Amino acid sequence: MKYNVDANGKKRVTLIEGDGIGAEVVGATRRIFDAVGVPVTWDVREAGAKVFRAGLPSGVPPETIQSIRQNRVALKGPLETPVGFGEKSANVTLRKLFETYANVRPVREIPGVKTPFSGRGIDLVVVRENVEDLYAGIEHMQTPGVAQCLKLMSKKGCERIVRMAFEVAVAEGRRSVHCATKANIMKLTEGLMKRTFEEVATEYPQIAAHHIIVDNCAHMLVRAPESFEVIVTSNMNGDILSDLTSGLIGGLGFAPGANFGDDVAIFEAVHGSAPKYAGKNVINPTAVLLSATMMLRYLDEFAAAQTIENAIMTAFEDGVYTQDVVKEGSVTTSAFTDEVIARLGRRPERWRVRETKALTIKPLDARRDYVKPQARTWVGVDVFVESPEAPEQIGPKLEALVEGTPVRLKMISNRGTKVYPATMGMTDCVDHWRCRFVRRDESAELDDTFVLSLLGKIGAVCRWMHLEKLEEHDKALAYTRAQGED
Ligand code: NAP
Repeated sequence: MKYNVDANGKKRVTLIEGDGIGAEVVGATRRIFDAVGVPVTWDVREAGAKVFRAGLPSGVPPETIQSIRQNRVALKGPLETPVGFGEKSANVTLRKLFETYANVRPVREIPGVKTPFSGRGIDLVVVRENVEDLYAGIEHMQTPGVAQCLKLMSKKGCERIVRMAFEVAVAEGRRSVHCATKANIMKLTEGLMKRTFEEVATEYPQIAAHHIIVDNCAHMLVRAPESFEVIVTSNMNGDILSDLTSGLIGGLGFAPGANFGDDVAIFEAVHGSAPKYAGKNVINPTAVLLSATMMLRYLDEFAAAQTIENAIMTAFEDGVYTQDVVKEGSVTTSAFTDEVIARLGRRPERWRVRETKALTIKPLDARRDYVKPQARTWVGVDVFVESPEAPEQIGPKLEALVEGTPVRLKMISNRGTKVYPATMGMTDCVDHWRCRFVRRDESAELDDTFVLSLLGKIGAVCRWMHLEKLEEHDKALAYTRAQGED
C-alpha cells in the first residue's frame, strides 16, 4: 500500500507546518479538511527553522524522518533555508532522504485572476527531476579562481522521471508530453534524458511525444503556453521553468506541487515561507490547498479533492481574492478559508475539475549497475591541471613527459575549448587546463600503475587536481570532444 491506514480506517499523513506563512496556509488546509470530513489523521511533526535553531544542522529531526517513513505521505508548509546557521536546505534534505525523484507542478488558469495570458486556457504540468543534475551539489574549487559543479544524471534517473511524466499524462487524460533538454550542448547528460525520452515514448503510443530545446521551451511558454500539456525536464531546467509557469497563471500563491518517489510522496506548494507576511493573515493559501488536493488523489480520495477544488474555484468566480490578486476588497487568509468552507458542495460555472485516474508509479529494477555495456575499452585519460603558463608552454612539457609511453597528448582545452595545438581562435584562458592523453594505437593497454606514474610526472611540472578516465562503451565514445577538437 502506498499509504498507511490506521485502526479507524483513516489515512495517516505526516504534517509539517513549516516556517513563516506555513502556520496560516497549513491551518487553512486543516480547517477545510475538517469541514469536508476527509478521512485523514495528521501526525504533526517539525522541520525547518526551529530545528536548525535548536542546533540540528539537517533541519529535520529523526522523529520526523521516522514518521514519514511510516506514513509514506506528508503534507508540508514551506521551510526556511537558513542563512548563517544550519548547513543545507531542509527541503532538499527531505526530497533526497526519501528519494522523491519527481517534482510535479501543475498550473492552470484560475477564474477571474487577470494575467497577460487570461483566456488562453493554460493547463499544463511541469514534471521536474528532483534529485540529480547540478542539485547533487558536488562542488569543488579546482583552482583558487575556478569553481566546478558536477552535473550528474543517470539512465535510471532519466527513465523514472520520463516514465512519471507519461504516467501523469495517462492519469490526467493528456494527449502530449514535451521533453525539454539542452541535449544540443550537453550531449551525454541532457542527451541521456532526450534519448531515454525517445525510448520510453514508444511504450505510450497514444500520447504524442515531442522533444524541445529548453531555451525554446521557455520562449514558447511565453508565446503559446496553451500548446503544452506535460513538460518533463531535468532538475535545474525544471526549477526555472516551473517558476516561469507559476508566473503565467498569477503567481506563487496559485502554484501547487508534489514530490513523488517509489515509496514516499511529499506534497507542498512551490512558494517559500514569505517571511514578510508571516502572522499577518494576508497570504493566499490556494497553492497549499491545491497541493493538498493532489495529496487527496494520491490517497484515492478523489471525491474530496473534487469538492474542495470546486469550492475554491467557486469562491474565485464569486470574486473572493486575497491581496496578491486584488488591492481593493481583498479578504484575509482566514476569511478566504471561511468563504471556501461556505461553498463546499457548490460547483463553479466556468471551471471544470479535471477528471483523473490514480497515478501509477512503476519502480525500476533496483540494480545499481543499471546499464551494462557488452564491451568497455580504456582509451585515454583527461588530467586537469592548474598552471599560470600559456598553452604553448604547457603543451611541449607534457609531450616530453609522455614520450615513449603508451599515450600521446592529443590536445589541451580551457573551459571546454581546445587551445593546444594552437587553433586560429582567440580563446581567453584561465589557470585550469584539461590535458587529454589518448592511446598511441589500439594495441596500447592502459592500467592504473601507468596512470599513477603519469600523474607523478605531471605533478612535478604543475599541480593536477582531477582526473577522468576516457572510455568507449560498445565502441561509442563515453566522453565528448572539446570545442574545436577533431
Ligand atoms: P517566497 O517565500 O516564495 O516568497 C516570494 C514572494 O512570492 C513573496 O514575497 C510574495 O510576493 C509571493 N508569495 C509567496 N507565497 C505567497 C502566497 N502564498 N500568497 C501570496 N504571495 C505569495 O520566496 P523567498 O522570499 O525567496 O523565500 C523565503 C524563504 O522560503 C527562504 O528561506 C527560502 O529558502 C524558503 N523557500 C522554501 C521553499 C519550500 O519550502 N519548498 C520554497 C522556496 C523558498 P510579493 O512580495 O510580491 O507579495
